Amino acid sequence: MYARKGLSRRGFVGGVAGALGYMGLKPSGDLLASGFGSFEAARAAMQSNEYDGMAKLANNENPWGPPKVSIDAMNEVWKYAGRYGYPDPGLAATVAQHHGVEPGNILFGAGSSETLTVMGQAFLSPGKKIIGAMPTYMSVYNYATAMGAEGITAPLNADGSQNIDAMIQLAKRNYRDVGFFYLVNPNNPTGVLVTKEDVAKVVNEVPEDMMILIDEAYHHFVDDPRYETAMKYVKEGRNVVVARTFSKIYGLAGMRLGYGVARTDIIERMRRPTTGTQNIGALVKYGAVAALKDPQEEIRVRNLINGMRKTTVAAIEATGYKVLPSQANFYMVNIRRPVTDADRTAFRTNGVLVGRAFPPMNDFLRVSVGTEEENTRFVSAFKKVFPATATQTSRGG
Ligand code: PLP
Repeated sequence: MYARKGLSRRGFVGGVAGALGYMGLKPSGDLLASGFGSFEAARAAMQSNEYDGMAKLANNENPWGPPKVSIDAMNEVWKYAGRYGYPDPGLAATVAQHHGVEPGNILFGAGSSETLTVMGQAFLSPGKKIIGAMPTYMSVYNYATAMGAEGITAPLNADGSQNIDAMIQLAKRNYRDVGFFYLVNPNNPTGVLVTKEDVAKVVNEVPEDMMILIDEAYHHFVDDPRYETAMKYVKEGRNVVVARTFSKIYGLAGMRLGYGVARTDIIERMRRPTTGTQNIGALVKYGAVAALKDPQEEIRVRNLINGMRKTTVAAIEATGYKVLPSQANFYMVNIRRPVTDADRTAFRTNGVLVGRAFPPMNDFLRVSVGTEEENTRFVSAFKKVFPATATQTSRGG
């Protein structure tokens, strides 16, 4: 149970919204207004020599970047940088084969962010609703509210898991107006997974014709046997879109490539509001194909990151602060008071960039797993910014 009053048993949203068990995000830009303050502006203005020297633990990236095979493949194709009609490296066929689907089941985008945007364009309109958790990856809700749609969200449970039953109830209650149901697994910002039973519950219990977007950006890091990808529901012909990205384990965040996998008729509907395939750069297509052909490297990176997450979390917990159980390349520390811009500035002074606040989980600091040196730097900065405290007995602190 959480120590802070009002965020205890019910979950992370107290007050009236918490009591009602849901939170409506009106098309008033309230989310855009949250979390992006002067610190973000200062960071955006950071010069590359300062940025390069930082331990960049704010955005859940792979600290090593792409595997060598991808860099080599991309270096080979600079000659196509000025072309539209360059040879195709077989991206669609390679990804389709990787998942056991057909190329027609896949829609690529400039990062999975574009897949999420396209879902909004295809399935939302003013007055429509997205059902999901709060907090989760908020870009979808930001996009929805900007276009006059509305996020209807259920607060997380006290252990950081998503309240699947409440989300299903919200889906049923708002049935007629729902554009799609959004499930992030494992969730961002918590890193907490949704079990395969709970994913099945969502797929089987929401109204049959409701679209479900399952965002598996952090799929590759999960090693908990209670998890399973939702790809089988696509193959069963359900109303499910699975979103994946090359930004995380494959280290291609700056190159921008992601995709959605779904039934062909769903993919066709999503394709309509796009301009075709020229949204993706030539280099990343080659880099991505090369990365998929090197599964051993993927396993190596996953084991390295997960191992370092465990070591770093143990070092933080040894100082008396609790960390949510993460299955991703980041974790959330309960600092038992709101994360402030002053805290983030203090970390930055110590050469570390950490995540912003994620309302309503204001007492939690999100930190990405970096290289060993970066994680060590973070632990030492953490000890300065948050002095040691007596270990608490309750889970999550
Ligand atoms: N979905 C989730 C859950 C994320 O955390 C992110 C980025 O952090 C994205 C999607 C978008 O990533 P990208 O556009 O780089 O694929």
